[in-house]
Amino acid sequence: MHYDVAIIGAGLSGLAAGIRCAHYDKRVIILEKHTVWGGLNSFYKKGGHHFDTGLHALTNWVRPGYKGPRLPLQRILRQLRIKPDELALDPQTQSRVVFDDAVLTFDNDFDRLTQSVIEAFPAERDGWMALAAACDGYPEVMGTGQRRSSRAVVRELIRDPLLIEMLLCPIFFYGSAEEDDLDFDQFQVLFNSLFREGFCRPRRGIRQILDALLARYRSLGGEMRRNAAVESLVIDGDRVAGLEVSRGEPVTADVVLSSAGRVETAALRSDRADERERGHVGQLAFVENLWVLDRPPSELGFEDCVVFYNRGPKFDWRNPEQTVDLQSGVVCVPSNYQHPEPLDQHVIRATHLANHEQWFGFEEQTYRAEKDRCAEASKVEIARLGSAFDAHVVYHDGFTPRTVKHYTSHINGAVYGSPAKVKSGRTDLSNLFLCGTDQGLVGVVGAMLSGINMANLHILAEGTAR
Ligand SMILES: Cc1cc2nc3c(=O)[nH]c(=O)nc-3n(C[C@H](O)[C@H](O)[C@H](O)COP(=O)(O)OP(=O)(O)OC[C@H]3O[C@@H](n4cnc5c(N)ncnc54)[C@H](O)[C@@H]3O)c2cc1C
Repeated sequence: MHYDVAIIGAGLSGLAAGIRCAHYDKRVIILEKHTVWGGLNSFYKKGGHHFDTGLHALTNWVRPGYKGPRLPLQRILRQLRIKPDELALDPQTQSRVVFDDAVLTFDNDFDRLTQSVIEAFPAERDGWMALAAACDGYPEVMGTGQRRSSRAVVRELIRDPLLIEMLLCPIFFYGSAEEDDLDFDQFQVLFNSLFREGFCRPRRGIRQILDALLARYRSLGGEMRRNAAVESLVIDGDRVAGLEVSRGEPVTADVVLSSAGRVETAALRSDRADERERGHVGQLAFVENLWVLDRPPSELGFEDCVVFYNRGPKFDWRNPEQTVDLQSGVVCVPSNYQHPEPLDQHVIRATHLANHEQWFGFEEQTYRAEKDRCAEASKVEIARLGSAFDAHVVYHDGFTPRTVKHYTSHINGAVYGSPAKVKSGRTDLSNLFLCGTDQGLVGVVGAMLSGINMANLHILAEGTAR
């Protein structure tokens, strides 16, 4: 079958790119390896409970009545022709960054974070203001072109090492594929997404967004083949000549857009291009546990939507030596968002950095035992942020880097992919482009924006990027 565009992956970037192409009457097919769409941010049912695989917080909240330059989420909805109401987004109450010696509180009013920074670090008032000014606005789609170390830029403006670590902690957790640093362009995007615009949550979780995307894509005549892994990209000269797929007929397309990742996509090429890509594999992976409780977590002292915590003054953002690094983590409570009706399921989810080599190296029995041990240790650790909740757990589930690799094919289970982003989305082939995680925009909003940007830039004619 021949298409104008073939998209590898039905994650958020692939779906958004598909909508853009289908809207402009391109004949599009999305090929997805799994039965379920959504990729890193999907959904499942287990033990009678419905879970989101990834959603802690949707970033880039737009407050009702906002008047100003168009914000990323407004741009996405406009480009995808989705009405804001379809996403049923409710804002956060508050979130915190908790270190042993200081706490920062923030909500969707940027002034609250400013006040919290100034209260905890009065000497850093000017530095904070300068950082906020340096982050005002968004970089160009392809960035400034020159990589700048976030640590170096922040250090020029803020002197207190504790405040630096406290600001880097949430930003790295929500989007750095690089050990201990991040390109300042990406820092700026995340700073605005997390702090200036803030967090919200769709009332029905990620399904609410995925249903809206899929309905839109299908209404435009977009095709999707599920359980259809792209097994090989057949290369002829400087082009992808065809895609071999695990189920169904092979596909040919004028243009191929891949959300599978830079190294992962290269590994599919018949010309073995992955050998020169190997150095770009992502190293940062997570363990996440989800506990369903018999009551709202707020009754047990967990009153924030999201808490980013770290023990000790220095935040280590790296592939840890131990199976799981409990020194830091993110704790998220969906029922604490300002939903009009209380959620009928009460969940606490906790995420920590994990050593992918160890998780992939365990044989099955040790793997299971270690997974249970880490879940228990995480539960004890995060009880410090509220209270012990063991007696109220009605169901538990968890995942490791192995689970992430199985369901999304990201090498090492590295959620944020390669540290070497390809901002242009270009490859050395004339009709193969990247979108999503390895193009450089991560998170639900970032992935959708990346899909839109790459479709506009590489597939659609000039003038369509309105
Ligand atoms: C635990 C966790 C928590 C998170 N929390 C948040 C959060 O709170 N807020 C937020 O905004 N973001 C969060 N994220 C990040 C967010 O989910 C991702 O950044 C985003 O979903 C990435 O989308 P993507 O389209 O770039 O890639 P992916 O979601 O990885 O999509 C790629 C798709 O390609 C498919 N694929 C791969 N190889 C092939 C192949 N050969 N053939 C066919 N299909 C293939 C995969 O199956 C997958 O469906 C979280 C992620 C995780 C894992």
